[in-house]
Amino acid sequence: MAGAVAEFMERVIARNPGEKEFHQAVHEVVESLMPFIDKHPVYRKARVLERICEPERVLMFRVPWVDDSGEVQLNRGFRIEMNSAIGPYKGGLRFHPTVYLGILKFLAFEQVFKNSLTTLPMGGGKGGSDFDPKGKSDLEVMRFCQAFMSELFRHIGANTDIPAGDIGVGGREIGFMFGQYKKLRNEFVGVLTGKALNWGGSLIRPEATGYGATYFAAEMLRTRRETLEDKICLVSGSGNVAQYTCEKILDLGGMPVTLSDSSGFIYDEKGIDREKLAFVMDLKNVRRGRIKEYAEKYPEAVYTAIDRKADHNPLWDRKADCAFPSATQNEINEKDAQNLINQGVSVVSEGANMPSTPEAVNIYIDNKILFGPGKAANAGGVAVSGLEMSQNSERLSWSRDVVDERLRGIMRAIHDQCVEYGKDGDFVNYVSGANIAGFVKVADSMLDQGVV
Ligand code: NDP
Repeated sequence: MAGAVAEFMERVIARNPGEKEFHQAVHEVVESLMPFIDKHPVYRKARVLERICEPERVLMFRVPWVDDSGEVQLNRGFRIEMNSAIGPYKGGLRFHPTVYLGILKFLAFEQVFKNSLTTLPMGGGKGGSDFDPKGKSDLEVMRFCQAFMSELFRHIGANTDIPAGDIGVGGREIGFMFGQYKKLRNEFVGVLTGKALNWGGSLIRPEATGYGATYFAAEMLRTRRETLEDKICLVSGSGNVAQYTCEKILDLGGMPVTLSDSSGFIYDEKGIDREKLAFVMDLKNVRRGRIKEYAEKYPEAVYTAIDRKADHNPLWDRKADCAFPSATQNEINEKDAQNLINQGVSVVSEGANMPSTPEAVNIYIDNKILFGPGKAANAGGVAVSGLEMSQNSERLSWSRDVVDERLRGIMRAIHDQCVEYGKDGDFVNYVSGANIAGFVKVADSMLDQGVV
């Protein structure tokens, strides 16, 4: 089996040189799928695995814009339309200086499986730009978003490809892009999700990824007859996903004790309560400040700056029961994973996409902890995006309770699919469960639709 995986990966690497995050994401999926495909040769004959690793379409374009001092700036825009076997392309846009083809292809690839797991009819896509919103004025962000949409608009549509937010793309950016799309097309349609309530957004969409990752942790704990009550939780990031993960941990009786940004992290042994969380939301969403200011406001917390030369991140080396990585890819390495285990962590629910390296994942599995991989645990965001699309089609708005109840039901359904395909004696391997369950629906639809 290892030989077949290595051979497959050799071809993927040769076809996609230099795209290491994409290789990593494909490798993890192929490792889970190879034994399954061996038992179901119909997928091999139709070369479904090869086809699923090849984007249906890759768009790359220049985004010129003018900054506040009148200088011309240049960024690169992307949209990866990965797979539309079960529905229109759906997935977020990321604005971050590290963005390049390899990152967006990994995210688009993961999105195909994730969207399939949600039980909703959504294909997979992802896009973004190497634009860095940090330190830019609102007007600069608006001009960039308009320039970006001035090209993207001709490739997307409410029944074709429906982008949403991701790192660096929140309500403000979605608003500017929606405005530009509407102006260029002269139509008011649900072409983006994560919209504000007044113009077609869904209640619970901002909360959905963080709430969903916490519900997923609660479902995993339920298999061991436990709950989140009184559990100490490490959370990384301090953006959209991290904030609402903290909120739901508090709702379910747990205690978040850390938050971070790309400069460092805070550890608050007494717990980040609702008042402190409100401070973080204002700091990050309105004042756009740094997490360091938390420790200036609450002296009981300790701030530690990131040491880029260190071989581990001390955020993951604090006494705790659960971990919710919610910042970015590969933020937990092998040493961090071992530190988590040594500090008593028995649940890892990934709010971010691929935050654990493959070596870290092996440590979770060897120690038989409850590990929910991102494509299952953070699917709540895209699930509520799917519900936003349904509401836009109906031209109706559902109540907060209705959306939250549907979200909870979807997270339970994702969990149950992972258990169905990932059960291995007493242990559930949620990684192979998610990969196989996500694959089957897409692969069968590809078989039905012929060689296209
Ligand atoms: P935000 O931009 O709101 O927040 C991102 C957070 O992560 C910020 O605190 C940011 O710090 C930190 N961060 C980003 N890059 C790095 C880095 N290289 N090193 C350390 N910290 C970093 O993004 P989201 O909360 O929306 O996204 C977080 C993760 O969740 C991503 O992996 C995303 O793909 C995933 N996700 C998001 C969904 C959503 O609905 N928003 C849905 C599913 C997954 P700083 O401000 O300093 O950059």
